[in-house]
Parts: sequence; structure tokens; C-alpha cells
Amino acid sequence: PTPHTAATLWKVFFLLVSITGIVSWLFVLAHESRVVAQEESQRQTRLLTEEILAHEQTDRELQRAKEVAEAANQAKSRYLTGISHELRSPLNAVLGYAQLLEKAADIPPARRDAIGVIRRSGEHLGDLIEGLLDISKIEAGRLDLHTEQVRLPELVEQLVNMFRPQAESKGLTFEFIQLTGLPEFVKTDEKRLRQVLINLLSNAIKYTERGRVIFKVRYRSQVAEFTISDTGEGIANENIERIFQPFERVKRPGSTASGTGLGLTITRLLTDIMGGDLSLKSQLGQGSEFKLALMLSSTSPAHYPPQPTRHIQGYQGPRRSLLVVDDEASHRDLITAALSPLGFAVHTLDNSLKAVANACDLQPDLIMLDISMPGLGGWELAARLRQANIACPIVMVSADARESHPDLADPPHHDAYVVKPVKLSTLLEKIGNLLQLSWCYEPTTHIPNETDASGKISLPDDTACRELTALAAIGHKRGIKKLLNQLMSEQRCNRAFYQQAIHHVDNFQFDLLITLLQEPSNESA
Ligand code: ADP
Repeated sequence: PTPHTAATLWKVFFLLVSITGIVSWLFVLAHESRVVAQEESQRQTRLLTEEILAHEQTDRELQRAKEVAEAANQAKSRYLTGISHELRSPLNAVLGYAQLLEKAADIPPARRDAIGVIRRSGEHLGDLIEGLLDISKIEAGRLDLHTEQVRLPELVEQLVNMFRPQAESKGLTFEFIQLTGLPEFVKTDEKRLRQVLINLLSNAIKYTERGRVIFKVRYRSQVAEFTISDTGEGIANENIERIFQPFERVKRPGSTASGTGLGLTITRLLTDIMGGDLSLKSQLGQGSEFKLALMLSSTSPAHYPPQPTRHIQGYQGPRRSLLVVDDEASHRDLITAALSPLGFAVHTLDNSLKAVANACDLQPDLIMLDISMPGLGGWELAARLRQANIACPIVMVSADARESHPDLADPPHHDAYVVKPVKLSTLLEKIGNLLQLSWCYEPTTHIPNETDASGKISLPDDTACRELTALAAIGHKRGIKKLLNQLMSEQRCNRAFYQQAIHHVDNFQFDLLITLLQEPSNESA
């Protein structure tokens, strides 16, 4: 080869050597970076695995905590239900006897009001026990509304009568202002509405030391607006949201008011469920104003009995016999005391084990069974009675507010269900329906607890009577009330007449007022 060719070959050789070197170097580099990437991804995977393990651990702990909380919640619900049972039984006796005493003829009128207060307070207590149960129901998402026709003016009046003495005994002025007319009947869940208003009114009185509590009601375009304002200790801005949370209370030095801190929680929850709105304006040291706006559609009272407060005196037809099986003596005595005067033959039995034999002997027209009795419970007893061919209606009586009916028979063994404390009117309504009784009522014109000490109604002078009759003829409620107040302040009419007339006017019974004004028999001085 020529020297030229040799030089060229050497150049090519060196070129190839350097290319090979670069390529191998690139290979080495690629390998290195792959190893690094692999290591990095392994490290990340390890970290991720560790994190997953940590999450699993947290998850397990959360699950355990949730189970513990659920168990505690269930225990609390069981406790609440149990305690409500224990409280209801004695309350049942208190309330039942208060209902009886209120109607007894030999109670002096002055004491009747006091008995009325006992009854209403007992009812309030019953509502409170149910409030306790509500919390567990709300927490379990099991609260239902029972919408019915409600006499709104009556409900408001009851609240005023209930809270005015409370406020006055604390030295506060209680003002009730009705800004517009109220429809006689509205559709709502009476119990819940009452509960919300009771919560707000009792708070207003509780957290006010001096001054006044004002309860205003307004009704416009199917919306009722209740305003409860007070001149009390007020609530600081930063606490306004907090007090609606469960168990949140504002502690103020020197304040002696006690409470559970649940009232406003329930109030807001119930307002929400009823589709209403609850707002609060307050200034520390000046007072608070709670405003509740609720859609309450007014309904016609068409199928309502005109005189729902009439007292039953007895029934037509042959004497009916009842068998009451209850281990609690107070309940047995109460039912006997309530139903015997109406003409029922009431047989009582404290031992459920003897009930079947007893019922076979007696062949009663109706049987009332307590649900929880030692030995043989009410549900089982009902089944045994049916097995023994006892076909009469069975009413179950329970102190347990849980609405579960474990009577799974089809058709059920029982015909009706009442909850202690037993409301006499509800019980009578059920018995009346089951036995198809036609009730005899006492005459209605006389309202016993609305007469004064002398008890006699005497009419005011002729001019006043004429004016009142003219106003009643056109149904001018406010005009009549104004005139009555004027007559009263001028001592031109007696208290018994005034109370009777106001009662008629408040119930829109203008025709009864006219009759009263014309009745010569009342004119005994
Ligand atoms: P409770 O009254 O049983 O403590 P609530 O839930 O009804 O529970 O009320 C929570 C808190 O809100 C009360 O402890 C009180 O500090 C405050 N509060 C409620 N109503 C008023 C009011 N009208 N005036 C001042 N503070 C109030």
C-alpha cells in the first residue's frame, strides 16, 4: 500500500476507535441512569407502601373509634329510652289525677287554676322527656312530623298562660302582642311547634333578670311569625352561632340559670325539619330577639266538632265492662277513677299470668294491657288472649315512647295503642270508637273555672248590653274586648260576666255571647 493509503487507513482506524469509545461511553451512561432511575422508583414504591400501611392503620383505628362511638350512642339511646320509661310512669299518675281533679265538682274555683297549672306543667314535663328522646331520634335520623289541624289561637293562649306566671314570679313583665288576626285552624305538627316556642320562651325568661319578655305573633300570607324578645343578658356576637351547637352554653359570672345546652339545638333542628327559619339578633347586656318564621297554612275546621272541650259524662246503652291489666297500682287506680264515673265497670288485675283465666270468666267488652309487665309482657299476653278465643278489642298501654309495635301477627292482636302519660280525651276517643259508644256530654254554656268567687254572672247595664250585642252581631272582636275592658275598669260589669264574655269572644262564639247577653236567668246579682 502506498504511504497515502496507509495514512488514510490510520485516520479511519482512529476515527472508528473514537466513535466506538463514544458509543461505549454513551452505553455506560445509559446504564448508569437506568440504575439510578430504578433505585429512585424503588425508593418511591417503598415510601408509598409505607404510606399505605400507615393509612390502613389509621383506617383501622378510625373504624374502631367509630364502633366505640356507635356503641356509646346506642347505649345512650337505650339509657334515654329506659329513663323516659321510668319518668313517664309517675308522671302518668300526676297528670291523670290532675286531669281528674280539674273536673271534680267539689274543688273550689280558686284551686282549679292551680290544678290546671299542675296539669300543664306535667304536660310540659312529658314534652321534655320526649325532647330527650327526640335527640336520640334526630341523631338516628328517625324523626317524623305529624301534621294535623291545630287551633292556633288556643295554642298561643296556652303558651301565654303558661309563661306569664313564670315571668311574673321572677319579677318580669310578660307582654303578649298579637299584631294581626290569627286563623282558627292551621296545619302543622302541634307538638313540635309548641316545643320550639316553649324552648324560646323559657330561655327568654331564664336569661332575663329584669325588665320584660315580649311575645309577638303575626300572621301574613300563610306565614306565621313568632318573635320572642327579652331585655336579658344578651349574647355576644362570637357566641351567636355557637349556642346552636349541642351542649354549648355561655357561662357568665353570677348567672345561676341551669340547663342542658340542648334546647336551641333541638329548636333549630325542628325548625329546619318544619321548613321554617329561625333568626337571632342580640346585643350583650341589652337583650336578645329570636324570630321564628313558619309556613302554617290555614285550613277549614269543617270536620271539627264545634265544642271540643265538652266534658264526657257517660254513654248511652248498656253498661260496658273493662279489664285493666297493669302491674302498676297507680295506673290501675287512675283508670278506675277516670272511667268508673262514666259508667264503666272497671276490673283491674296486677298479675298478667292470671289475665287469661280472668278474661275468660269476666268476658269484658274491652281489655287494656300494659306492655311491660314482669312475668308475661303485654304483647305476649295479647297473643295468648287471642288463642283463648277472647275476641274483644285490646288496647295496648305503653310507657315506652318508641313507636315500634312488635305485634307482628297479621291481623294484629291489638286494636289500639296509647302512650303513658295517658291523655284521658285520647283514651276515651279510642274506647268510644272501639265500642261504638255514643257519648253524653255535660252542658257546655257553664265554664266552671271562669267564674269568680261568687260564681254568679250578672249582666252589665242595658246600654252596655245593647252596645255589646251590636258589636257581637257584626263579629267585631277587638271592639267587644275594648268595651269589656272599659266596663271592667269602670266597674260596670262583674268579673264572672267579663270572663265568660271574653271566653266566647276569644273563641269567636259571637252567637253564644249574644245569647248570654239576652239570658234573663243570669241576671241574679
Ligand atoms: P340551655 O338553656 O339549656 O342552656 P339552650 O340550647 O337553650 O340550652 O341555650 C344555649 C345557650 O344559649 C344558653 O346556655 C344561654 O347561654 C344562651 N341563650 C339562649 N337563649 C338566650 C337568651 N334569650 N338570652 C341570652 N342567652 C341565651
